[in-house]
Amino acid sequence: MRYEGILSQRVQDLKPSGIRKFFDLLQEMEDTISLGVGEPDFQTPWHIRDAGVYSLEKGFTRYTSNAGLIELRREISGYMRRHYDLSYDPNGQILVTVGGSEGLDLAFRALINPGDEVIIPVPSFVCYAPLVEMASGVPIFLEMKAENEFRVTPEELSALITPKTKALLLPFPSNPTGGIMERSDLEALAKVLEGTDIMVVSDEIYAELTYDGLHHVSMANIPGMYDRTIVINGLSKSHSMTGWRMGYACAPNPIIAQMTKLHQFGIMSAPTTSQYAAVEALRNGDEDVAKMREEYDGRRRFLVKGLRDLGLNCFEPKGAFYVFPCIRSTGLSSDDFCEQLLLSQHVAVISGSAFGPGGEGFVRCCYAASMHDLTEALARIGTFLESVKK
Ligand code: PMP
Repeated sequence: MRYEGILSQRVQDLKPSGIRKFFDLLQEMEDTISLGVGEPDFQTPWHIRDAGVYSLEKGFTRYTSNAGLIELRREISGYMRRHYDLSYDPNGQILVTVGGSEGLDLAFRALINPGDEVIIPVPSFVCYAPLVEMASGVPIFLEMKAENEFRVTPEELSALITPKTKALLLPFPSNPTGGIMERSDLEALAKVLEGTDIMVVSDEIYAELTYDGLHHVSMANIPGMYDRTIVINGLSKSHSMTGWRMGYACAPNPIIAQMTKLHQFGIMSAPTTSQYAAVEALRNGDEDVAKMREEYDGRRRFLVKGLRDLGLNCFEPKGAFYVFPCIRSTGLSSDDFCEQLLLSQHVAVISGSAFGPGGEGFVRCCYAASMHDLTEALARIGTFLESVKK
């Protein structure tokens, strides 16, 4: 049977993620050190796992309400207030989702009419553009620059706004660059958006991983922006809970109402066991988060220094768990650098070009890996750089 004429053209037109191909290659190799996968290397803290197990023992194995357990929404509300000084009503302004991923999907689908444009700063997480396209929107890429520490500038934003602009996606702290936007940066963007109806989808999944004494600021905190910002967050990165698939969206009632409808038809409710674990994580997990952040911070400093000592130009990331060194000095393309490093030294890093325009010339190194692995990876990268010079 020929499926090309049967399957959705829009789906067939989506380009597969550049990262997947690379991981397939990685699977076949032994003795590899991976700084590739963007996922915490810590286990979910025990008391959180226990809460999930305990909920099963108690027989909590049914659907929850569509928006999520009210107990969990209350914890999310408290967490948002405590950590980010944001106020969301557990009844109507919070939706529990299957990871931040579902939240992003719902946000785009709830906002976009066919042909609407969504401004997506790049290099960034590979999901945004495909999700916008599947919602029948048009991704408009805003290329962030290393010389701006991979922030979005008001000039860059204002140059891309058209009558069709529906939303701006804000991916901070950033995967893959580790860049952040501070309050003054966000205020400058808010000025550009003033007087328009442009919405903001703010992916704050790495908010807890902000370093150097800086505290994450949400776009929803900026005067005038609360009413038009959809905050996407979750526990995957902050609490080392990627496999539990726990995310949440916070926004004004009319937006959450539409997102909840989509969630109800497509998902029903987020996994019940995970929701009970998430209640415990948000209620009693602040210390775990702080400990993991401290550990990541040590690795961040170590890796940045190590890469710089090897002669790679490396902007100092202030968030997430990625370092994004420039590899242009090697004369290799990002793809070639990654492939040759993997084949010759068995170290996996991800090509910057996988993260959209603006990523070429850089590679993403994830430091959610042990100090032992980071040390060994640096030694091998050093050997590789020597071999490339010759
Ligand atoms: N946003 C960003 C920037 C990410 O890096 C990821 C995961 N890699 C997600 C969202 C999705 O996370 P999850 O669905 O696991 O919550």
